[in-house]
Order: sequence, then structure tokens, then C-alpha cells
Amino acid sequence: MSDTKKICELCKLPVETQGFKLKTKDGEKVFCCEGCKSIYRMLHEDQILPKSK
Ligand SMILES: [Zn+2]
Repeated sequence: MSDTKKICELCKLPVETQGFKLKTKDGEKVFCCEGCKSIYRMLHEDQILPKSK
């Protein structure tokens, strides 16, 4: 049994299932939705790691 609850990095709501992940210099952040993820990315643009293609 695992009760590790993830919290959205932006709005602090609990994140269900896998959530939306974003890799930053500070580690991997998890978000409840695509909207939170893109807002966080805009706010912390310099900390977001470039996508490896
Ligand atoms: Zn959120």
C-alpha cells in the first residue's frame, strides 16, 4: 500500500494518478493539470530544463 500523495506545484491540490510532470533544475515537479503546468513553466522559465528530443 502506498499513500504517497502528490501535490500540484502550482495550486497545491492533490494530484491524481500520474499527473503532469515537468523537469526543472530543482527536480521533477508534478501538476494537477496541463494549465498549471504551463503557468508554472512561464513563471519559472529559467529553471525549466529543455526537452530532449
Ligand atoms: Zn494545479
